[in-house]
Amino acid sequence: MNHAVSKLIVTPEKHLKLGDIDPDESHGMTKEAALDALVQCQKRLSVLQYLLYAEGRRALLVVLQGIDAAGKDGTIRRVMSGLNPQGVRVTPFKVPEGAEKRHDYLWRIHNSLPEYGQIGIFNRSHYEDVLVVRVHGLVPKSVWSKRYRQINDFERMLSENNVRILKFLLYISKEEQAKRFRQRLEDKRKNWKFSPDDVKERQYWDAYIDAYNDVLEKCSTDYAPWYVIPANKKWFRNLAVAQIVLETLESMKLKSPKPTADLSNIQFE
Ligand code: AMP
Ligand code: MG
Repeated sequence: MNHAVSKLIVTPEKHLKLGDIDPDESHGMTKEAALDALVQCQKRLSVLQYLLYAEGRRALLVVLQGIDAAGKDGTIRRVMSGLNPQGVRVTPFKVPEGAEKRHDYLWRIHNSLPEYGQIGIFNRSHYEDVLVVRVHGLVPKSVWSKRYRQINDFERMLSENNVRILKFLLYISKEEQAKRFRQRLEDKRKNWKFSPDDVKERQYWDAYIDAYNDVLEKCSTDYAPWYVIPANKKWFRNLAVAQIVLETLESMKLKSPKPTADLSNIQFE
């Protein structure tokens, strides 16, 4: 699987379009192997999270985006379930209200960042301000079109200040979305997740794809890369996200800090 992860990275040179990606892709993995591998990943993630927290000097920010029913909530539940809640900060971003509306669009984002030592997870993010906002013309083009550069500048600043950023686009097909909506309607326990607005948004599918393609083209940087995750198969989606998070934490070479005093001769009753 490791070799497959690199294929998921969107680099500016790749000019990757969502149309080039098969949301059913599982890179030769079987479900059984993926579920086993996820358990191994979760164990290792827990060890590295402990070190990140102990070190307390750097943060990891995981951004999750995707069309309705793409699996943002499920990814958080499955991938992050082995983590210590004390070291995790999860923030869902909804339609801005109150103080959020009285500030620039990055204000609530900056306020929701993980502290050093923490893993932050954004369920939606500042990218909504070039996705839903663009698709529905909530601000004029002259305003949203400048945001790609602003977002890159903001993310660069964060990365230069010890916030490591990973961005995942969970990519499902239109058919898979219909299937998941139907489950939400038919299964009483899932009814609460269904919103009639989701069906309205579905009519804008192509506009969302265009908007996502622009995000991938303009905002995948070496300091804050986008990964497109084929997400029709939940088990593949979970493993792919878990592996990329794990590889990133491994690459950070986390170490427990040295004791702040000489511990060799401490005595107490
Ligand atoms: P959910 O994630 O299903 O709880 O839905 C949250 C809703 O809030 C989605 O329809 C998003 O598109 C919407 N939303 C999030 N951020 C913004 C934003 N900056 N402007 C407008 N709508 C937003
Ligand atoms: Mg929703």
